[in-house]
Amino acid sequence: MEAPSILHGSLCLRRDGNYCRGCVRDEGTGKTLFDEYVATKPLMDSLLGFTDEPIMTCSCGEPGCAGFWHQESSMSENRVHWLLHYKKENGDILFERDAYENAVLAGLRQFMEKTWEDMAFPSGTILAEYPDSTAFVQSVDTLLSRSPRLSAKWEAFCIRPQGGPGRRMDAIMEGL
Ligand SMILES: [Zn+2]
Repeated sequence: MEAPSILHGSLCLRRDGNYCRGCVRDEGTGKTLFDEYVATKPLMDSLLGFTDEPIMTCSCGEPGCAGFWHQESSMSENRVHWLLHYKKENGDILFERDAYENAVLAGLRQFMEKTWEDMAFPSGTILAEYPDSTAFVQSVDTLLSRSPRLSAKWEAFCIRPQGGPGRRMDAIMEGL
């Protein structure tokens, strides 16, 4: 990343075994800026406003390992703005808010699969931030409950199951 510069970025999340990974591309050049592990809690927080908890991180859960010394994410009406101190550089990445929200919600949906129920949650995995998969699903519920905009989008992605969060994964799997 060249500093000081403001890049227009796009975000794409994918599940990689026990991990959530995020690829950030420079929309101007098409180049991949980062393809790293993602902490889902601050990622969800970034959909609601400001967070300075690191989103991009190392597989071990320590962002500094992957070169991320400081990260902030803030939101305006149409944009999500990441401020990064990456290795020796400072940089800014602007995302279109709509596309960013869609990418995160689509990613969260991918991760809410039944298989998590039976998995251990070692450090560094997507669910390492949560005591168990139900807590993860509850945090998605909380996110959606705090934003009519996000919950409307979620409805478009998912068949919303009846009942508690424990049933969400089953219902989503059936709906796929
Ligand atoms: Zn590490």
